[in-house]
Amino acid sequence: MTDDSTPLPATGCRDAPVLKQRGQHEVFCGLTGIIWLHRKMQDAFFLVVGSRTCAHLLQSAAGVMIFAEPRFGTAILEETDLAGLADAQAELEREVARLLERRKDIRQLFLVGSCPSEVIKLDLARAAEKLSLQYAPHVRVLNYSGSGIETTFTEGEDACLASMVPVLPETDERQLLVVGALPDVVEDQMLDLLSKMSIDNVKVLPARRADSTLAVGPNTSFILTQPFLGGTLAALGKRGARHIPAPFPFGEEGTTAWLRAVAMEFGVDITLFDTVTHAPRARAKKAISQASEKLDGKSVFFFPDSQLEIPLARFLTRECGMTAIEVGAPYIHKGVVGPDLDLLEEGPTLSEGQDVEMQLDRCRAAQPDLTVCGLGLANPLEAEGLATKWAIELVFTPVHFYEQAGDLAGLFSRPLNRRAKLRLEAAE
Ligand code: SF4
Repeated sequence: MTDDSTPLPATGCRDAPVLKQRGQHEVFCGLTGIIWLHRKMQDAFFLVVGSRTCAHLLQSAAGVMIFAEPRFGTAILEETDLAGLADAQAELEREVARLLERRKDIRQLFLVGSCPSEVIKLDLARAAEKLSLQYAPHVRVLNYSGSGIETTFTEGEDACLASMVPVLPETDERQLLVVGALPDVVEDQMLDLLSKMSIDNVKVLPARRADSTLAVGPNTSFILTQPFLGGTLAALGKRGARHIPAPFPFGEEGTTAWLRAVAMEFGVDITLFDTVTHAPRARAKKAISQASEKLDGKSVFFFPDSQLEIPLARFLTRECGMTAIEVGAPYIHKGVVGPDLDLLEEGPTLSEGQDVEMQLDRCRAAQPDLTVCGLGLANPLEAEGLATKWAIELVFTPVHFYEQAGDLAGLFSRPLNRRAKLRLEAAE
């Protein structure tokens, strides 16, 4: 297979020292994942067992849903539940019965734990098991935690997908399983590229509908599309499936390397691989070079947030000409991001976890051209004169694979353009 990408760095970051941080951290909780998961899984319902705060988070983050019959809701834990004065378990069962009676379209129901349900130790696994037996085979009831005590915002998707793996049927078929919730249009582009390489037995987790033929077994090879799916990776490993390690499909280089890893696993002919990828690679390179003009020569500092930080730092440094000062990630799982670390040239500080005040001090001292961080940090840093990019946008926007590579670079150049315009206006 032709490899005309940027040469490998003399020393990558796989074995670079990692600054481990432990302290106050600023991130959304795992409930946030429901915002994109409910769009993807068209017959699923996410019932958050939480407080009014949790309901408010969901409603405000997914305000657009007021125009449609929602696929998520909150079973509110009242003060009496929290004080142990009511049987919350029985109330939850009544709530589920009311919901399923009203909504016959629901085929998968996720009971999503929150901080309050964890504090009062509501046993959602037991509830899900009991309800699953009661409503089978029409509805499958699963549970996972989206609590802020346990999860950062992208871990909600990981917990959700990992909860589905143990109940998947067994198969001996040779198949590729692509893991991660992508917008449908992006998923279709990916499936089209794989089909052109004659890889046809491809399944996607999560499937769009519960009645898909999704199954797993020892002849399943799987590849992740998101770097925050470490729990799902472990769950699939337990089912005997084989992980295909690869850089993540961000940018031209990441997408080509991701596809190449799949092609090698399935013995795709070299000429066919080159023929299929030639035109989209050229389009992606052109789009990136146009969108990244403003990024070339600029520096970037990542606060830990989405777990996309390492693959994105690889993309920005190798394809957009940026220099990474610090790449902070909530967790660094080398089994997942190792191939991206190999490509990321030694130099930036790699940090894991967060002590927000110390990290802010490092950021202020470095004065990066662009800071990628959560919403809570972006406004104060903007006020201090730093250009920022909200990490959460990178999860909500289609950014994977060739056709989105230019948009991905554009997401980072936009804050720099905005700041340049503000400076110009101020000078006039
Ligand atoms: S799960 Fe916890 S952090 Fe998330 S909205 Fe509810 S109370 Fe807040």
